[in-house]
Formats: sequence, C-alpha cells, structure tokens
Amino acid sequence: MTERERYEAVVVGAGPGGAAAAATLARYGVETLVLERGAEAGSKNVSGGLIYAETSAPVTIDDLFPDFRAEAAERPVTRYYLHNVAGDRVETFDLGALHEHDTEWADAVLRRKMDAWLADRVHEMTRETGGGLLTGVRANGLLRSERGEVVGVTTDELDPIEADVIIAADGVNSELARDAGLMDWADPDEWFQGVKAVVDVPAEAVNDRFAIDEDEGAAHLFSGDLFSDVRGGGFLYTNEDSLSVGTVFHLDSLVAERAEPHELLDALLTHPLLAQWFGDDYREREYAAKLVPDSKKAALREPHAGRLLVVGDAAGQMQAQGPIIKGMNHAVTAGALAGEAFAQARGRGRPEDAGRLYAEKLRDEGVMRKLRPRGYDLVRTVAERDGVTDTVDSLLTSRLGRLGIRALSGSLEGLYGSPRLSAVVPDTRTPYVTLPTVIAEELGTRVADESGVEPPSLEERIGELTYDTDVGNPHITLRDDSYAASGAAVTACPVSAKDFGGGCYREEVVRTNGSEERVVSLDTQPCVECGTCAVVADTEWRHPRGGKGVAFDQG
Ligand SMILES: Cc1cc2nc3c(=O)[nH]c(=O)nc-3n(C[C@H](O)[C@H](O)[C@H](O)COP(=O)(O)OP(=O)(O)OC[C@H]3O[C@@H](n4cnc5c(N)ncnc54)[C@H](O)[C@@H]3O)c2cc1C
Ligand code: SF4
Repeated sequence: MTERERYEAVVVGAGPGGAAAAATLARYGVETLVLERGAEAGSKNVSGGLIYAETSAPVTIDDLFPDFRAEAAERPVTRYYLHNVAGDRVETFDLGALHEHDTEWADAVLRRKMDAWLADRVHEMTRETGGGLLTGVRANGLLRSERGEVVGVTTDELDPIEADVIIAADGVNSELARDAGLMDWADPDEWFQGVKAVVDVPAEAVNDRFAIDEDEGAAHLFSGDLFSDVRGGGFLYTNEDSLSVGTVFHLDSLVAERAEPHELLDALLTHPLLAQWFGDDYREREYAAKLVPDSKKAALREPHAGRLLVVGDAAGQMQAQGPIIKGMNHAVTAGALAGEAFAQARGRGRPEDAGRLYAEKLRDEGVMRKLRPRGYDLVRTVAERDGVTDTVDSLLTSRLGRLGIRALSGSLEGLYGSPRLSAVVPDTRTPYVTLPTVIAEELGTRVADESGVEPPSLEERIGELTYDTDVGNPHITLRDDSYAASGAAVTACPVSAKDFGGGCYREEVVRTNGSEERVVSLDTQPCVECGTCAVVADTEWRHPRGGKGVAFDQG
C-alpha cells in the first residue's frame, strides 16, 4: 500500500501567488507544505516584469515580505512612456499618470532572483509551522477520495499528500485547475503569449542612457505597425544592470497572422528608436517565453472546487489594464486572500468553507472588478465585431479621421492615460495597430538613429539556454499530427519556425500511396514550457517532471 503524507495545507507553486499563500498560512500558524517543480524557485518563471503595489489592494508583496523591495527587486519605475510607431516615425506619450494611478510603488523584477529570494523566506516561515518548501517536485494531479472528493495531490516524486486545503498557485498551464475541471486550454482568444530578451547593459550605462539615477527606472511601451497586424505590443524595462525587452500578443492573433514570435521580438529590438538604449555592443543574456491569461475573458468567478483553491495565473487572474500588465500583484493578493480564507474557515471549525470565503473576499476587496471590468463586457458586445472594427479603422485612416487625430493632438495623451478607458480597451486591431499607427503618421517625428542591433538567431538563443532533458520521457505528445490540427504550433511556438529544423515543431509532407499529407512532428528537447501548444495544437500536454526541462537564469 502507498504511504500518504498529511499536512493542513499544500501549496503548489512557488511563484508570487504561492509565496503569498504560504506566507499567509504560516502567519496564521497553519502547517503548510509548498511544492515547486523547478530545481530552484524562479527557474521556470518569466515575467516582463513590473510588480505593482496598488493602493487599493488589500495585500501587497511588501506587506508579507517587508525587505522585498530592497533585496529582491531591480529598480523602482519612476518614468512611464508609450511610443506610437509607424515605420521610423514615433509619437511618444508620457503615461506617468496612468502608471501612478492607484499605485503605491512599482518595481522592475527578474524572476529567478525574485522567486528564489521569496522561496528562502517562505521555507523559513513554513518550517516554523511544521511544513517547508520542497523544490524539484511536480504535482501531477489531484488526490481524490473514493467518493471523488479532492483530498490532496499526487506528485511524480513523492507519495500522495493529503491536506485540508490545496492551494493551486501553479501558474498559467495549471494542471490542477484543469484536473478539477475549472480551466480548459481550448480557446486561443483567452490567452496572451509573452516573449522576452534580457539584454546586458552595465548599471552606469542604464543610468546615462535613460537619464535616471540608480534609484530610478524607466518603462517604455511600443505599439503601432512594427508588429504588422498582430494585436499586442512591446515593452522595455530598466533593471539594475540589464534591460528586459519583450512582446505580449493575443494568441489568437499570433495564430491568425501565422506570425513568428521571435521575429516580432526582433522587429522591436532592431527598431531605430531602441538604438539609443542598447549602445554598440548588443548582448542578450536570455531568451524566454510564457503564456499569460487574459483575465477579462479567463478569470474564474468561482476559483475553487471542494478543498482546492486556485490563485494567480492558474485562475486566470492576469489583468491587461490597457498597456499595463498586472499579473504578479493580483497573484499575491489572491494567494494571501486564499490563505486568509482557509485560516478563518478553520478557525470557525468549517475548513470546507474556505473556497466560498475566498471567492467572497475576491469580490468584496474589489479584485474581481479589476480582473473582469463590467464595462468591458459592454464594450465587447459592440466593438469586437469585425464589421465595427473595419468601419472604425476605415474612418481612422480616412482624411477625415486623420484630421480628427490632428485636431485631438492635445488631448490624446490624456485619453490614453485614463484608467477608466484603459480598463475596457476592446481586443481589436484598432487600439493596438490602427490608432497608434495613424497617430505616429500624423503627429510623429522621424527617428534619426540607425539600429546596429543584430539579434541572435533562434538556434543561438536556444543554444544559450540550460536544459536538463528527461531523456526518453517527453512531457508533450501530439495527439493529432495533422497540419490542420497542430500546424499552428510550427509558427506560434516561440522556439520553432517555418524552415527551422532545430526547434520543437516541424512541418513535413508525407507521401503515401501517391497521396501527400501535411503533418507536423515534435521534439520537446528545446521546449521552453511556454504552454502555447497546449492551446493551439492537439497535444497531451504536461509539465516536465520535477527539476527537469528548461531552467531560466533571469526570468
Ligand atoms: C513576457 C511576460 C511579461 C509579463 N509582464 C508582467 C508585468 O510586467 N507585470 C506583472 O505583474 N505581470 C507580468 N506578467 C505576468 C506574470 O508573470 C504572471 O501573471 C505571474 O507570474 C503569475 O504568478 P503566479 O504565482 O500565479 O504563477 P507563476 O509565476 O507562473 O508561478 C507558478 C509556479 O508554479 C510552479 N509549478 C507549475 N506547475 C507546477 C506543478 N505541477 N507542481 C509544482 N510546481 C508547479 C512553477 O514552476 C512556478 O514556480 C508577464 C508575463 C510574461 C510571460
Ligand atoms: S513545444 Fe509547446 S510548450 Fe514547448 S516551447 Fe513550443 S509551444 Fe511552448
């Protein structure tokens, strides 16, 4: 018979959501075990990333970890700009007001450093209540009683573990949320794909090139025609001695345009506007990618099932507030509220009420209003129709529309900076491509610089990553290898590309009995575990076993 371990609480995942949940549980004296699949916390994680502490949030990361900003973050973001781009013409808006709205502070972070720091504190805190944090352990499913109730988790590495509460903070492709039937990975419309390069720039050069002091930082965002028609945008954030530069696109748009994520990133990196910040010696430390949910469509209204409470990306709690990406802060808040809910339910002798209480807290504290703004549902029904988008875009690009943009030139920055409007931006070509392009064409100025940046090839980028491959045990298998079912992954996978033989997905033509069939093949060795092909291809998709697969140094 299999041995079973037992804890009051099991938290799966040591990202910001899991760290916040575990720290909160430990503060309430709950015996808590944390399981993290990475060989070290942070080694699997990628973010842009700016972590916000919202004034209105009931819990922020520094409430739980007071030394966080001094020890785990890079730089506070003190300047915030949006660049509207059309070819080499650029019109820049200062979005400082939007960035500062409801913001106590916002810091740039790199996830390997941040999560490893959090994990050390969480381990200390949870050990004091009889638990601890184990790395290199992957939860592979929910443990159920004979009656089918969730009573714990199963893992690849350990005996089954029972618990009174299971907090799934296992990120965007949450296997636990899927196992519980709370999340499917069916609709590309509900996800963004983020791709990112960390670029080496000495600390003094960061200060000089962005005209900031060592305790200041800058954020630059980019939209317009530099990504063709793909809906999304680019970002550049200053770290202590590096830059985080990346793109975030709606996954359905990436698939529809058959765009190659690494080429879109290169379009940003080689734009002349960015030349001023890279200097002559462009050196990439790391290439990385990950899916993120679009909370407006994917955030679970009841993120719980029996003893299972789901927090952060696993529950779809990643908010795109116009150009501002807020995932880590909401994961922290949700993790803390889930921990609190269990502690209070246990205190009342009714631990089974924890899920209901957690969902109530998300509503009462205003978190759900941010994740699923009501206005967006209204905007969506009108603005997200192809006919409406086509009409609006034709108007904007007409002489009349262009005159209108010129007439509004003094007010556009203010409109872009409106927190209300930014919360309900429709998910169409208009705000991502057409409007910024027309703004740049009509109001922008030409960038004089030329870019000398030569980004590494995909082969070089993969070659620089660290993998511990689980030889003979691929974590993803193709259920249907026809091009019709799985071909979208050939271009959408961030480490694959058409005519590139060294990535995960390849397109082939198989000839049998005089007929030809287009199929795809898969090699998971270079996989960066972004989760894209779980959504856009017909796969049996799992994370690798604990400690196996890719390990990011930066994140
Ligand atoms: C390119 C990009 C840019 C972004 N920019 C920003 C930004 O600027 N600001 C912002 O706030 N957010 C940003 N995000 C989103 C942000 O990264 C996420 O919303 C946030 O990390 C969610 O936190 P989490 O704790 O829910 O999940 P994660 O941070 O993904 O953590 C999940 C953890 O669970 C572990 N895990 C997963 N499965 C298992 C398992 N089965 N067993 C054990 N452990 C498991 C993982 O290894 C990981 O450590 C960005 C994301 C991307 C990809
Ligand atoms: S194989 Fe799938 S999970 Fe891996 S990098 Fe490619 S798209 Fe992402």
